Amino acid sequence: MAEPPAPGGPTEEDWAAAVAAVRSLPAGGRVLLICHVNPDGDALGSMLGFGLGLRRLGVRQLQATFPGPPEVPEPFRALPGLDLLVPAAQAIADPDLVLCFDAASESRLGDLVDRLDRAPAIVLDHHASNTRFGGIHLVDPAAAATSVVAERLLTRLGVPLDQEIAECLYVALATDTGSFRFDMTTPAVHEMAARLLATGIRPGEISRRIFDTRPFGAIRLYGEVLSRTTLDPAAAGGHGMVWTYATQDDLARHGQRPYVLEPLIDSVRCAAEADVSCVVKQTGTREWAVSMRSKGAVDVSRVAVALGGGGHRLAAGFTGRGTAHEVAAAIRDELDTALIDPEVPGQAGV
Ligand code: AMP
Ligand code: MN
Ligand code: MN
Repeated sequence: MAEPPAPGGPTEEDWAAAVAAVRSLPAGGRVLLICHVNPDGDALGSMLGFGLGLRRLGVRQLQATFPGPPEVPEPFRALPGLDLLVPAAQAIADPDLVLCFDAASESRLGDLVDRLDRAPAIVLDHHASNTRFGGIHLVDPAAAATSVVAERLLTRLGVPLDQEIAECLYVALATDTGSFRFDMTTPAVHEMAARLLATGIRPGEISRRIFDTRPFGAIRLYGEVLSRTTLDPAAAGGHGMVWTYATQDDLARHGQRPYVLEPLIDSVRCAAEADVSCVVKQTGTREWAVSMRSKGAVDVSRVAVALGGGGHRLAAGFTGRGTAHEVAAAIRDELDTALIDPEVPGQAGV
C-alpha cells in the first residue's frame, strides 16, 4: 500500500514518474548518479545504496560521481558500492537517466550540472529549500535523510534490501540524524533502521568506523582548534554564538586532510551558553567552508542563504570570503537581523 504523501513531499504522480523513468530505460541504458560536493554520509550512502539497487535491477552502465576533488573521506572508504564511483571528469557526458542525491540546488553540483539538461533527471532530496532544478522531484522536507527517499523509491521499484544496500542507507540515516538523536528521528526513522538492521548489518562496527575513529593527528588538531573557540553571548539577540576556525596551515601542521574537520561542529555546538555554533574551515586563500548549527532559536538556513549558501533550519552552511574573523563578523551581522524564535526547541539535523 502506498503511504499518504507527506505535506510538501512527493505526490503519487511524482513517484509514478520516477518509477516510469527507471523502468523505461532502454537495454544498455546509461545511468549517472550524482551527489553534492564534499559528500557526507547521506550524500554518499543514499547514492551508492540506490546505485547498488539499480545494479540488482540489471542496470549495467552505471556510474556514481560528485563534483570537486574525487576524494572520499576516510570514514566512508569501506562503503559498499564504492566501485561505482568515478571522478567527475570521467563521468558519462550523455547519460540516458540522471539521479541526483541530497543536493538542494544546482550550485551544489558544480560542473556536473550540465548533465541535468541532457537526460531525464530525478532529484532525491530532503531540503525544504530545494530549488526543484530537475525534471522529476522526490523531495521530502519531512524525511530525516535523503536515504529515506531512496529507500522508498527502491521499494516501489521492487528492489529488496540486502546487506550492501542496507549498510549504505544506514550510514546515510545514522549520519543525518546524528546517530538517531535529532528531532527528525521519528518512529518511521526507527522502523526504517529496523528494516536495515534486519538484513544483518553490524551497527556497532559501522558506527565505530564512521563516528568514533580518527587519526591521532586529528585529535591533536582538534585540541588546538577547540582551544581557540570563542563565545559571544550577546550575538543573536542574546541567544549567543560560539565559533572557531581551522586554517589550511593547521591541517598541514598535523598532516590532516580537510574532511577530518567535519565532526568538529559536534564538539563546538555543545556549548550551553550559545544557541548558534559555527566552524569556519579554510578552503583557499581568503575562502572558507562554514558549518552552522542552531539549537532552535535561530533559523540558520536563513543566515546561510543570506550569505550565499543554504541548508536546513538547524544545520546550514555557506562559503565565506575574507579572514576567518571577517566571516564570523558577517555571520554575527546576519544574526542581528535574523528571525529569532525562542519557543522552538530542537537539535541540529543535516
Ligand atoms: P555541514 O555543516 O557541511 O554539515 O552542512 C550542513 C547543511 O548545510 C548541509 O546539509 C547542506 O544542506 C548545507 N550546506 C552546507 N554548505 C553549504 C553551501 N556552501 N551551500 C549550500 N548549502 C550548504
Ligand atoms: Mn548532505
Ligand atoms: Mn541529507
